[in-house]
Amino acid sequence: MKSILLKNVSLSGVHKDILTGGELIKKIGPAGAHVSWDLAGDIEIMDCTGKAALPGFVNMHTHSPMSMMKGIAEDVLFKDWLGKVWDVEAHFDPEYIYQAARVACIEMIRTGTTTFNDQYWSFESIRRAASEMGIRAAVGYDLMDRFDPEEAKRQMDKCMQHYEEFKDNADGHLFVLAFHAPYSVSEPLMLWASDFARRNGIKLHIHLCETLPEVEDCKKAHGGLTPVEYLDELGILGPEVIAAHTLWLSPHDVEILGARRVSCVHNINSNAKLSSGYRFLYNELRDAGANVCIGTDGCASSNNLDMLEAMKTSALFQKAWREDPTALPLDELLDMATVNGARALGLDIGVIREGASADIDIVDTDNCFFLSPGSFLANLIYSAHSDCIDSVISKGRFAMRGRQIEGEKEILAQARTFLGVTTV
Ligand SMILES: [Zn+2]
Repeated sequence: MKSILLKNVSLSGVHKDILTGGELIKKIGPAGAHVSWDLAGDIEIMDCTGKAALPGFVNMHTHSPMSMMKGIAEDVLFKDWLGKVWDVEAHFDPEYIYQAARVACIEMIRTGTTTFNDQYWSFESIRRAASEMGIRAAVGYDLMDRFDPEEAKRQMDKCMQHYEEFKDNADGHLFVLAFHAPYSVSEPLMLWASDFARRNGIKLHIHLCETLPEVEDCKKAHGGLTPVEYLDELGILGPEVIAAHTLWLSPHDVEILGARRVSCVHNINSNAKLSSGYRFLYNELRDAGANVCIGTDGCASSNNLDMLEAMKTSALFQKAWREDPTALPLDELLDMATVNGARALGLDIGVIREGASADIDIVDTDNCFFLSPGSFLANLIYSAHSDCIDSVISKGRFAMRGRQIEGEKEILAQARTFLGVTTV
């Protein structure tokens, strides 16, 4: 595997040289320092003058095979949207999921994501797609029995079998257990999933408190307990839990999520678009001790997988609904999209440091968006768009170089043929 030398790249405003070795960042030194480094062997050199480096983004909640479901249910109520999505998904097979996941990976690479936390079925198709495209997937094995005990048993058996198969073929990806939500999964299956995750040291990825009706229904069904209180009563909440949405929370819910060190994933574009809500309690969750991350959610609701866009929208909504411009500072926004996701997944990513995984976005700053004395992060998040991302290194390899992804045209053509659609 070739090493990569990034010459004269701006890192937090200081010009540096960065050298990878294998999948890791081997050396970081002042610009020009590489002349004294041992650069023997196969090496790819990139002159990064006019470019800046930042950690590859960690998209902490998505359903990658929804990449081919953009715009299929617009301007409808949440329950009608979910009904439409489930109708369409009923026809999916592993080949569809593979094709769609490859398209998602292309979009993620183009927009600077190097790790994604996914939740879907046919997780083997997703693992295969991510491996081919060279980025890292936390592949959520999806459980959803819709309160059918036989289905629950079948899914438990299959899950155990798949977990064993995955362990031998992980290829740098992470097996994550996922159950859809307390409103679609029975108590025995949720308890089993929680126990399985803890026994095997794996993460548990769920949807939680996405809509107000979900909270009201739960209270009716469980003696006044909110979904957070209900799961906590069952003993399911802990630091291994990655809870997507956590939008409709009482002060007691926030306290519980903080005390249990749950990772809460904000998906503002999806929430706002489906009118699920927008008053995400970022400051409260952070202060209570929860680990707050950012996700895009799937393309059936968010329509894209663009983490820069998700960061910008997250900040704008926080500032707007709180009437407080200090509500979500830029450095915390970047942490939510990088290192907090790394913490949630237990991976040494989301940071540019010697010894960490070489997951690096290289941003072209030689354009109008960065021509300002404003800070790099402000220009990146509030002014620029993700097409400023020139190159992406994932696990020590270029997944994109100079906006070129190997095989992109062929992959998109195959997906188009598979879907039977023509591009207008
Ligand atoms: Zn979701």
